Amino acid sequence: MEQPVKNMRVAVYPGSFDPVTNGHLDIIHRAAKVFDKLIVAVLNNTSKNPLFTLEERMELLRQSTKDLTNIEVDGFRDLLVNYMKQRQVHVIVRGLRAVSDFEYELQMASTNRKLSDEVETFFMTSTPQYSYLSSSIVREIAKFHGPVSELVSPEVEEALRTKFPSPPNKI
Ligand code: ADP
Repeated sequence: MEQPVKNMRVAVYPGSFDPVTNGHLDIIHRAAKVFDKLIVAVLNNTSKNPLFTLEERMELLRQSTKDLTNIEVDGFRDLLVNYMKQRQVHVIVRGLRAVSDFEYELQMASTNRKLSDEVETFFMTSTPQYSYLSSSIVREIAKFHGPVSELVSPEVEEALRTKFPSPPNKI
């Protein structure tokens, strides 16, 4: 019998995902085992100048998580706590790569807690092989046509190739 929605353990994994990397996918796969449903919420952050549009980032996430059945990809522009209230979800999942992530993540978690006492942030530590990986590193490598096949899904690799087509051979 299908579980009633109110008893489901649902979490939101928010981020920029510009683009989604294997580090994000590792967190998504692991969180999808812990929660009944994981909403991957892509922030349309107007203060950043993203490489991929919100729609492109969402589509790449959908394609890269097509093997998982309990994932929903959504976008949001609001404050995270407002979005969570609207979706009636109380758990935020964030990934921690290294000590350098900690200060910012602690600040965010404390701020969100201050804004809404209904919200809890759960941290998942990165699998060591992805602890150096970030979207910005992927964008930088792709810009110079370096290899990214071990860092992102085939769909993202293809999308990066389209964004940064190889220059014509110099004569
Ligand atoms: P934001 O701009 O909100 O930091 P990101 O897309 O960069 O968005 O990251 C979203 C979340 O995923 C953050 O919690 C970040 O720490 C985590 N994350 C990013 N890269 C990795 C990785 N390689 N391993 C584990 N977690 C990661």
